Amino acid sequence: MISFFPTAYKDEILYSIINRYHIRSANISYTDTIKDLYNSKYIKSILDLPSNNLILLKSIKLNVPVEKFIEETSLFRYYTAFLNIQRKEDIIKKLSYSDVREIHSLVGAAQKISKYDGYLKLCPQCYSEEIDEFGEGYLHKLHQIPSVFVCSKHRCILKRSKKPFSFYSNYFTSIDQMDFIDFKEVKIIQDNIEILILLANDCNYILDNDVENKDIEWFSEQYKNRLKQLNLCTPKGIVSINEVKSMFIEFYGQDILNLFDLDIFNEEGSNWLKYIIRNKRYILNPIKHIMFIRFLGLDIRDIFTKKIEYKPFGYGQWPCMNKVCNNYRKRVIDTIEISYNSKKKSPVGRFRCDCGYTYSRVGPDKSEEDLYIVGKVIKMGSLWEEKLESLILKGYSLNYIESVLETSQKTIKKYAIKLGYIDYVKKRCKLDEVARVEEKKAKKELNKKLKIEEYRLIWLKLIEENPNMNITQLRESNITVQDYLYRNDREWLYNTYPQKTVGKKGNYLVDWEKRDAEILEEVKIAIKDINLDNRSSITLTGIEKLICRRGYLINNIERLKKTKKYIKNIISKAEDEI
Ligand SMILES: [Zn+2]
Ligand SMILES: [Zn+2]
Repeated sequence: MISFFPTAYKDEILYSIINRYHIRSANISYTDTIKDLYNSKYIKSILDLPSNNLILLKSIKLNVPVEKFIEETSLFRYYTAFLNIQRKEDIIKKLSYSDVREIHSLVGAAQKISKYDGYLKLCPQCYSEEIDEFGEGYLHKLHQIPSVFVCSKHRCILKRSKKPFSFYSNYFTSIDQMDFIDFKEVKIIQDNIEILILLANDCNYILDNDVENKDIEWFSEQYKNRLKQLNLCTPKGIVSINEVKSMFIEFYGQDILNLFDLDIFNEEGSNWLKYIIRNKRYILNPIKHIMFIRFLGLDIRDIFTKKIEYKPFGYGQWPCMNKVCNNYRKRVIDTIEISYNSKKKSPVGRFRCDCGYTYSRVGPDKSEEDLYIVGKVIKMGSLWEEKLESLILKGYSLNYIESVLETSQKTIKKYAIKLGYIDYVKKRCKLDEVARVEEKKAKKELNKKLKIEEYRLIWLKLIEENPNMNITQLRESNITVQDYLYRNDREWLYNTYPQKTVGKKGNYLVDWEKRDAEILEEVKIAIKDINLDNRSSITLTGIEKLICRRGYLINNIERLKKTKKYIKNIISKAEDEI
């Protein structure tokens, strides 16, 4: 029977309390103390999750519920925060009694988080403050969590025991007799102290608070919804795991991940990232959840209670965008169907009003105005179709229907055909097309008329200003005007010509007989250079090339009588073209 037992300091771990008892009890050996407390000399100390708590409470005559004692003196809360309530109760039972089988596997603690897992840790500043205040220092629960390397109160780096805890599990001694040394990675820890403090605070939160335990599905759902918000998961739940992995590595940096020994860099080791998202019934070390939560930009205080929802198009309701519906632009649509556009890597919302009108939009919505954007009309719906039908039956034109429905003619035609009004479409298209052609023609005529008037004035002015010029000279003075009038206003143009320059047979500018003789000579010379064998294969265009008069023969061959005859005789193959 023991006569006293020290009261626990704030955040003190059970091993530290028993250690202080041992020192004060004046027991000589570890076994004496253990026998005092557990009524058995074969019990080894366990740092994080010690069992046999009921018997201990009985020995020390402490009148507190065993659950509370376990919660306050061990890492129980830390290791069970992400487990469901049944498992948590199971662990409580095991720790109350002597059943320690698989306890570390059951809470994910068997997954070693760092090579310093298994060493005692101490904040030198906390320790010296405690010496000043209580005359003795103690070991904090928080500092014994494997992933905690810093004291968040003092923003300093912890020290570790030189010997592993296994050395002390059969041995008690005062803390000042233990050797505490710096971590080899002291620089890495210092460089990353901010994030390490944040993680230590997160660990502290679940260590200090009774969180609402949830099933594993709750967490995978929370994580997935958050990944959807971050565009790293499709609305159907397909996660780009490699992208998540590389972002995770980038977020924490290789130094921290190496320090934590999270095995993220090899394929096998990174499976835990898949497990954490994919609702596998796989117990993870809580630091993995904590790190993932922080990576996702979530708050550990919210993760257990606040449901994360994926609402890329807001909470609704959504407006009907059918112009003929009474609910046009009114927010009446309650449900939304969300799919994923893999090309755009974005969610797509599909909205359907009771009037049948259905439209979609690529999200996520960024502002209130986005609510009224129609990306694509999927169905015009029965109400719109009825309206279209009534307009068709009343015999309105496509233009009129277009203006009433504010819909493109293409869509109107498509739906008219769908509703069986093929004749209407055919007729209307024809009528409309004729109207369009006529309109175009009238416009062209008008332009022509205006141009003729303009050119007539220029032409007359030219004649007036140059009374001594003959027609060739006049023509060469403004070839554009003369050509245009020749093509479009020939009769008027002829009447402006002085009588003496009008040639025979209405041929005013060219003496075709003379020209025919010249061209014939040119052709004869050109043909001479071609072998007799090849002559049959040459064409009229070919001859044009030879005499360097492209297009000339084809346009004027009827006027070049002798040339035509010559070519016909010489080149049999050219006949078709002549
Ligand atoms: Zn401290
Ligand atoms: Zn509607």
